[in-house]
Amino acid sequence: MALAMAVSTGASWAQNTGLPALGDGDSISLSAERQLGDRIARELFRDPDYLEDAVLDEYVQQLWAPLVRAAVARGELSAELQERFAWRILLGRDRSVNAFALPGGYLGVHLGLMAVVSTADELASVLAHELSHVTQRHIARGMSDQSKMTPWVVGSMILGALAASKSPHAAQALIVGGQAAAIQTQLSYTRDMEREADRVGYGILVDAGYDPGGFVSMFAKLQQAAGLNDSGSFPYLRSHPLTTERMADMQARQQLNVVGPKPLPDMAHAMMAARARVLSQSSPDALKAWIQGPAALPSTASAADQAAAWYAATLSHVLLRDAAATQRHLQALGALVQSQRHLPSHAAAQRWWRLLQAEVAERQENPTLALQVLSAKTGQQTWQRPELMALAQVLQRLPEHALLPAVMAQLRQVVQQTPLDAQAWDRLSALLSVQGQALASLRAAGEAQAARLDWPGAVDRFRAAQEVALKGRLQPGDHIEASIVDVRLRHARERLRALQAPER
Ligand SMILES: [Zn+2]
Repeated sequence: MALAMAVSTGASWAQNTGLPALGDGDSISLSAERQLGDRIARELFRDPDYLEDAVLDEYVQQLWAPLVRAAVARGELSAELQERFAWRILLGRDRSVNAFALPGGYLGVHLGLMAVVSTADELASVLAHELSHVTQRHIARGMSDQSKMTPWVVGSMILGALAASKSPHAAQALIVGGQAAAIQTQLSYTRDMEREADRVGYGILVDAGYDPGGFVSMFAKLQQAAGLNDSGSFPYLRSHPLTTERMADMQARQQLNVVGPKPLPDMAHAMMAARARVLSQSSPDALKAWIQGPAALPSTASAADQAAAWYAATLSHVLLRDAAATQRHLQALGALVQSQRHLPSHAAAQRWWRLLQAEVAERQENPTLALQVLSAKTGQQTWQRPELMALAQVLQRLPEHALLPAVMAQLRQVVQQTPLDAQAWDRLSALLSVQGQALASLRAAGEAQAARLDWPGAVDRFRAAQEVALKGRLQPGDHIEASIVDVRLRHARERLRALQAPER
């Protein structure tokens, strides 16, 4: 998505406000850009399409982490930028094909994009391109070229453009609401910036160990889609027009790399794409269509395509509460995954299948079975994040279970290491609540909202925690919690005031 500003402006009202403008200096500072990004991200966290899904989150993070490491190793990503920017990827349920970099190191990825890419390398190529817009500071460079605009206006314009990629009505409302209607805006990176993001992104992709063919096939896919489709479901194309020059550059780069044999179909990726498809289109009619998937497969379908169809059908059946059909499809998927031991992604596919099995059990209100699936390895006391999140969810219904202390201990570890993991805070809060630890539970709930930059929500919960402490109904350890709550409440109130202030 488009974020550097090409604005033809008679932005007189912005000049009249007497507020500091972004465009005054050579480039906006890192902290001003981060602030602007926080402001935009805050709105996205509140968007009903914003999705926290531990499985898809992990999948994207696994693709993303090697790209960031490669960018650092290549000297594209400074320690300062790493430290000051958010580096958070927000998933959106939207079925439109889009990914975008926001100011301050936030990235947005629509499930629609995950659903159409055929390999992990293709998805990684889009992430690498967007990462490069951030490392090259294209957003700040674009804004510094423009005349006076307050961060508030820029934020409104970006949100307006994002909404425009979903619904024309919402876009209009946001733009008018942000008074940016007075400015003829056209949000886009310059061609030079696109070329640079392609070049830098390509280098990062290759160094991170991905198949550089991902870039080329992604381009081809988008080009094909552009020819077929003008309905606005590919907003990525509006911000990333596929000029013949970009295509030629990419193909020339590709030929410099010796390409190995075509990789085997990536079954694990196909399953994640199927998950993205179902979660982005889950109306009853859409679910009924996914259910038809396995029967509609051609006899030549690869094992990966079959796995995708079975995965989507299983998830759709469970959402439609058809227990028998769910079980049948789940077993068929399991048998298929088992039979593909030669695939490089076999272990990953098997794991996605196990997690689906646990999810099905949980949705069918069979927490005991879900727990069995998730804790199959005896003696295991630490889990990967999706397993941990699923276990924590299940244990809310089995609070006496012997695994509870280990799960809570690991959740505490997770939030200590990644204090912005809102979902982990939520799970911890729920488990603490089941155990009657009201103060600690409310504090965790406040932290979850703070992580989503929801300062009014955080203040509410920290205040409620404080009230529990004042009433003196304390549990062992609560004195420490209570003093943390005081500090956190002050911080949340400050952030709330800053938010409500007209403009820095
Ligand atoms: Zn771009």
